[in-house]
Amino acid sequence: AGAPLAPLASDGQSVPLVQGGSVRWVNLDYAASAPALRAVADHVAQVLPLYASVHRGASYASEACTAAYEAARRQVAAFVGARPDDVAVFTRNTTDALNLLATAVPGEVVHLDIEHHANLLPWQARGNRLVPAGSTVAATLAAVEAELARRPAALLTVTGASNVTGECPPLDRLAEIAHRHGARLAVDGAQLVPHRRVDLCAIGADYLALSGHKMYAPFGAGALIGRRDWLDAAPAYLAGGGAVREVTCDSVRWAPAPARHEAGTPAVLGALALAAACRELAALPDGAVAAHEQALLGRLDEGLVAVGARVLRIWPDAPDLDRVPAVSFTVPGFAAARVAAYLSAEHGIGVRDGKFCAHPLLARLGAADGAVRVSLGLGSQADDIDQLIAALGKLRTDGPSWRYTADHRPSPD
Ligand code: PMP
Repeated sequence: AGAPLAPLASDGQSVPLVQGGSVRWVNLDYAASAPALRAVADHVAQVLPLYASVHRGASYASEACTAAYEAARRQVAAFVGARPDDVAVFTRNTTDALNLLATAVPGEVVHLDIEHHANLLPWQARGNRLVPAGSTVAATLAAVEAELARRPAALLTVTGASNVTGECPPLDRLAEIAHRHGARLAVDGAQLVPHRRVDLCAIGADYLALSGHKMYAPFGAGALIGRRDWLDAAPAYLAGGGAVREVTCDSVRWAPAPARHEAGTPAVLGALALAAACRELAALPDGAVAAHEQALLGRLDEGLVAVGARVLRIWPDAPDLDRVPAVSFTVPGFAAARVAAYLSAEHGIGVRDGKFCAHPLLARLGAADGAVRVSLGLGSQADDIDQLIAALGKLRTDGPSWRYTADHRPSPD
């Protein structure tokens, strides 16, 4: 494990330390936002001069931009194995994509309690049916099945990979259960898509939400990809220009999806960057990302055990369950916020701390005050893990100044 698979636009960055001097920045926070690939950043710089609004008139620049934007839509759809009649709507991010889906579901929604707030609050707002995950994967599937059998639902929605523990629920089995009970399956792909080749057809999933900034595109765009009928029937997500067929002073005939849900000038660069990231990820050899990351994940698992961290798991007795490289833990005796501050200030290591926009899950895992999350990606190296583990080892001896005090409360998110 070691050699990065592809260069990142931020490779070689250094940061100042509190004790003076600077070190190579060790980014262990890919799950929050993955730095852009060099090729994606270059692509954005290349298309920037062709700056025109899409779908607006017949100028050369506008037509070229429109063609690039629509090609980007096709590339994103193809990257996730969309069916030919599926639709891909560009959104701001995964949160936006799931909120859009929430306006389109023609019935009740079932979901688990392990979700990121983006796949929880849109449903909570409209009378969700929440199923507590079981202590095993089998018990969880049985609980979902029992809920769908008890009363029909239009949609089962589930994360493809937990942003807290990296654990990947078995999507193909959830799709089969949902379909057997007349429901569709939506997948929050924010954490899965950067790490695994996702194929909507092969999984049998009906909708997928994703964020460009988590899959090596700069900030700007996400997408909702899936079945067209609900999206064509839903109210326009935003009312405004570009989403319509015809308007009079007191009436409107809306366009079908995707235009129906993309009113206003879209984030064209974000969409082109997202598509470029899809192209770069698709060009990597099959399984290469997973192979690179899994070796590092094993090293991380072992190191965390060795320094006495308490690792959080939804399903602790499922060693064969697929996991993307995000691991959350607590260090007994130290508040998570202090651990993260210490790693950054003293060692130049960037991790995430807090409740990861998954408060019910953190409470369920006995970490209601927050935890530390380490997450890996394409640019991660064995050395990054070794530096982290060495730093965590030093935390205990580095003195009481880094211990939790009332002034250093865990961050609230
Ligand atoms: N779902 C999961 C599993 C996530 O990890 C995140 C981002 N932390 C989101 C949804 C929301 O993504 P975004 O902030 O890009 O909307």
